[in-house]
Amino acid sequence: MRPMAQIAMVMNLDKCIGCHTCSVTCKQAWTNRRGTEYVWFNNVETLPGQGYPRRWADQNRWKGGWERTRSGRLRLRAGGRARRLGTLFANPDLPTLDDYYEPWTYEYKNLIDAPAGDDMPVARPVSQISGEPLDTLQWGPNWDDDLGGAPEHAPKDPLVEKVREQVGEKIRFEFEQSFMFYLPRICEHCLNPACVSACPSGALYKRVEDGIVLVDQERCRGWRMCVSSCPYKKVYFNHATGKAEKCTLCYPRVEIGMPTICSETCVGRMRYLGVMLYDADKVTEAAAVTDEHDLYPAQLESFLDPRDPAVEAAARASGISDDWLEAARRSPVFDLIRTYQVALPLHPEYRTMPMVWYVPPLSPVVEAVAASGHDGEDAGNLFGAIEGLRIPVEYLAELLTAGDTYPVEAVLRRMAAMRVHMRARNLGEEPDPA
Ligand code: SF4
Ligand code: SF4
Repeated sequence: MRPMAQIAMVMNLDKCIGCHTCSVTCKQAWTNRRGTEYVWFNNVETLPGQGYPRRWADQNRWKGGWERTRSGRLRLRAGGRARRLGTLFANPDLPTLDDYYEPWTYEYKNLIDAPAGDDMPVARPVSQISGEPLDTLQWGPNWDDDLGGAPEHAPKDPLVEKVREQVGEKIRFEFEQSFMFYLPRICEHCLNPACVSACPSGALYKRVEDGIVLVDQERCRGWRMCVSSCPYKKVYFNHATGKAEKCTLCYPRVEIGMPTICSETCVGRMRYLGVMLYDADKVTEAAAVTDEHDLYPAQLESFLDPRDPAVEAAARASGISDDWLEAARRSPVFDLIRTYQVALPLHPEYRTMPMVWYVPPLSPVVEAVAASGHDGEDAGNLFGAIEGLRIPVEYLAELLTAGDTYPVEAVLRRMAAMRVHMRARNLGEEPDPA
């Protein structure tokens, strides 16, 4: 056993209201400088949707992360070509500034001045830079708020395309049953970070004490291999300094015991921050498993129980301090990920072992509501409820478990049972153990 400590985050997607407070406070703190105008270390995207940058999850287009070769070795998916040519030519695998979108707002005057009619007045999007109408604009990280998985639009989401290929018409994207939810994203501070491995200058590094991935500004030479190799597209290029920048997990705050700014200011209180212990040997094994469906359980298996005396002794021997051990024992993140197993990793198939995990949204049911008049949360009907979920389980599985629906269903059932239990307790129908 080789215990290491890592700061991790769990986000409960049911609690995100898409207010962007996290994005704005993060921007105000870290990227309100020249050269970083387009940069959002924290962004909140609407799903189904194209995300930020555009179609970042389409790994056929942007590549990134690791792949396992036939001989069982791991190699970087992106950057192979870029890395060889990078020192001589421009890196070919980079998103363009257009992929990071032109900021837009609405032509609000339409809403006020439009003549009375049968329909709601429609405000056109206008450029925030020029003020000109953006009639041809077809996307933005939250463009899909108003379209919610509608048939004409949903196929632009790469995950929808993938799920459609697998299950065909079974997936519901009709207007009547449209759905949407928010996905806040920061750098994953991966256990096996592709950005660190791809950097020819050795400027990216992962801190031993807490696992935070940082860019050494002195060493960065602006090759941008980190941008092309990060499958989550969470490294950015500062056009004014010519250096790469990324989320620092607010390390100057964390070092004095404060939470990250996105966690502190989150309106939905949906972010949980904590220390995880993991076995470095098991992480190496987990990154190389053959079947993509085994990546989530393998990463789960690599986390160590900080309340286990054997783990505690091994952690001390590895130089992990008593303060960190205490933080790990008290960590809500460990319980959400490992004890209760209600949080799942984002795109484990990228093999970077991400450390920002998500509790999937327990969306309302549709068929069950119509058929029974209740909200489908009664524990006896959980199988039926899962069948009738508004957000297709297949879609969540593409996002969180490399397409394996079983772990997502298990989480949703657990969440539904907990919701039923808490409701009964709050209504006095079940005794409060406290
Ligand atoms: Fe590196 Fe963060 Fe991308 Fe992981 S998510 S590869 S740590 S930039
Ligand atoms: Fe979601 Fe919290 Fe960010 Fe608001 S502040 S968008 S609730 S993560």
